[in-house]
Amino acid sequence: MDIQFLGTGAGQPSKARNVSSLALKLLDEINEVWLFDCGEGTQNRILETTIRPRKVSKIFITHLHGDHIFGLPGFLSSRAFQANEEQTDLEIYGPQGIKSFVLTSLRVSGSRLPYKIHFHEFDQDSLGKILETDKFTVYAEELDHTIFCVGYRVMQKDLDGTLDAEKLKAAGVPFGPLFGKIKNGQDVILEDGTEIKAADYISAPRPGKIITILGDTRKTDASVRLAVNADVLVHESTYGKGDEKIARNHGHSTNMQAAQVATEAGAKRLLLNHISARFLSKDISQLKKDAATIFENVHVVKDLEEVEI
Ligand SMILES: [Zn+2]
Repeated sequence: MDIQFLGTGAGQPSKARNVSSLALKLLDEINEVWLFDCGEGTQNRILETTIRPRKVSKIFITHLHGDHIFGLPGFLSSRAFQANEEQTDLEIYGPQGIKSFVLTSLRVSGSRLPYKIHFHEFDQDSLGKILETDKFTVYAEELDHTIFCVGYRVMQKDLDGTLDAEKLKAAGVPFGPLFGKIKNGQDVILEDGTEIKAADYISAPRPGKIITILGDTRKTDASVRLAVNADVLVHESTYGKGDEKIARNHGHSTNMQAAQVATEAGAKRLLLNHISARFLSKDISQLKKDAATIFENVHVVKDLEEVEI
């Protein structure tokens, strides 16, 4: 499982940073890619990666500001042009209004898609668990921005324990169908009468990963709730240390506030994105240094950077 950052800038694109989008690559887990936000030019960034648009099965939108959604019509249209590939449906999750934005842009531009889009819109009253599959559950909660904006908590379900094949062989179990039975939790009796208890040969289930991806926000308790025990917290850092007041006025956070959220939530790792173009490279290292005084495992991400979870 990896996160690849497609756009890590705030508000408007700069040469180094495009506007917001990131891909949660779940190829090993479910052979899908989930996009979070889709700022203008996201499809161009995708061209610089190995991500195949057809693999993008779900798009989660945090809020309706342009730097988070203007890339949707272009991405959705180009996704249709993969002529020799099977056309698969796509799900879009986001605040009320996202459906009208997408359908209007497609209609006005005469764009026809050969696949279906299923919209899942929500408002303040319909948040909580927004998706559950056999492998993942996704929760959304309202943050504190200048318009309705949410954060997402993606929880992978616990993974089955693995079979200790070496130990089974040592116990005299012949390789073959018995292995499959034991793997399924069935106790078996060997020809010589030895009883093999499946539980002794299967490791305990491994906890699934927790990934928290927040939209734009002031510091708020909802961020902490979404990030409790997260393996990775992706948090905006539109402003730096000392700019707490201006951050509040504009509905954003500083690096220090993001670090506080990570600490309060007991997250394992903090990735800072939504970085203003005002910051030069020396400022970026300062952003990290300052945040690290509160939360050590912090990193300021770059466009196209890939982070293994
Ligand atoms: Zn915004």
